[in-house]
Amino acid sequence: MTNFEVRAYDAAGRLGELEVPRAGVTVQTPTILPVVNPHVQTVDPSALESEFGAEILITNSYILHGSEDLREPALERGLHDLLDFSGAIMTDSGSFQLAEYGDIDVTTEEILQFQHDIGSDIGTPVDIPTPPDVDRERAESELETTQERLERATAVDTGEMLVSAPVQGSTYPDLREQGARDAKSTGLDVFPLGAVVPLMNEYRYADLADVVAACKRGLGETGPVHLFGAGHPMMFAMAAALGCDLFDSAAYALYARDDRYLTVRGTELLDDLEYFPCQCPVCTDHTPAGLRSMADDTREDLLARHNLHVTYGEIRTVRQAIRSGNLMELVDSRARGHPTMLDGYRALLSHAEQLERTDPVSKDAFFYTSTESARRPEVLRHHERLDRFELDADSVLLTEGGSNDRYDETWGVVPPFGPYPRELAETYPLTAEVPERTDRAAYEAAADGVARLVSLHPDVEFTLVHDDWPATALETVPDGVRLRDLHARD
Ligand SMILES: [Zn+2]
Repeated sequence: MTNFEVRAYDAAGRLGELEVPRAGVTVQTPTILPVVNPHVQTVDPSALESEFGAEILITNSYILHGSEDLREPALERGLHDLLDFSGAIMTDSGSFQLAEYGDIDVTTEEILQFQHDIGSDIGTPVDIPTPPDVDRERAESELETTQERLERATAVDTGEMLVSAPVQGSTYPDLREQGARDAKSTGLDVFPLGAVVPLMNEYRYADLADVVAACKRGLGETGPVHLFGAGHPMMFAMAAALGCDLFDSAAYALYARDDRYLTVRGTELLDDLEYFPCQCPVCTDHTPAGLRSMADDTREDLLARHNLHVTYGEIRTVRQAIRSGNLMELVDSRARGHPTMLDGYRALLSHAEQLERTDPVSKDAFFYTSTESARRPEVLRHHERLDRFELDADSVLLTEGGSNDRYDETWGVVPPFGPYPRELAETYPLTAEVPERTDRAAYEAAADGVARLVSLHPDVEFTLVHDDWPATALETVPDGVRLRDLHARD
């Protein structure tokens, strides 16, 4: 795979560059592909490019294929001219229509050929979008059909057009992982994670995190990962932290039509707003009351533009967070927008080991911003790597206070990481900023670290001097460790 290059990581999040040879452009990721309906354009593709900086969009080749008005012009003039867009254009195949209406009248070969003929830069085969929660037999057999079609897709001569290999498998993590491995083995170029829209519509962000993590296990670091149909800015940070690079959605337009207003914390109804919590040109120049008094199409246009500003703004925020190494802090803050997002964040943290593999070993700072911070990949890594330190001593003091000559060696202790050799005190992540009113989870994680160190050195006599740790943390400290409170008089 040479068309996608990762330039920086944070957790499993990636700053990347996707080279799209047919369009002659390089797309910066993570990014969003606005969905453009060939028949109804809420915001012109040329405006998406000039006003919002869109480098790529997605449109539906199946709609064009079946359109009496647009099929011939698309074939004659090509998509870029038809839509007036010079960036990269990805096309969907009709799989969505297949899921909605149960039947479509093209084969993978026909639709890929058509996508090629209308000048698409990234084409898509007709996969089978298997919904969540179906019985396993169905998920397995539909996955098999999807895989057959992906293999047939590799045989179509598509020239320079990149071809995507969607990953299905419903809500079965092992099937998602297998589907991802199979998709990867086709050697195709882009990996959309399919049929996740129902999970997002139902706010099942924990299930979404599990599905994405399973797909990523199968894909490894190969190719760009496209979260198909994900367009709400409130979940970009989380999806990016799990390793998604591309998002697409018609949300900006569909929501605008219903007077719904996107924010990074969720969706607001225009009717409920007295103030616009946003600094975009639309929200600076208008008030909610002003917008409500406008004609329908003007209001829809302005709302769609606000929705796009927020969407692209969040994409830039996510990119900068990856660059700065504080993507997890951003995920943490976005998770506060809705309890189900918090579920998603907690599910993501249950994959901390997976996220740790690509997480940079050194960053600027670790901010402990919530109870969940105690479960971040950096904490897990510190515990795992305790086996890298030599400990040649009979008695060791682990302390949140100063050293003591009565012991052969003194190690520092800091929540949530736990014990560490003192010479590392000024290195990442031990330089973490932790609130003075630390929570129980941080102490418990530190106690896990102590337990891990003790298990590595069963013959060493440990003494732990702690600063008023709660009982739930002290319970985790192994029995043989002598405990003293930092402020107790002895
Ligand atoms: Zn705005």
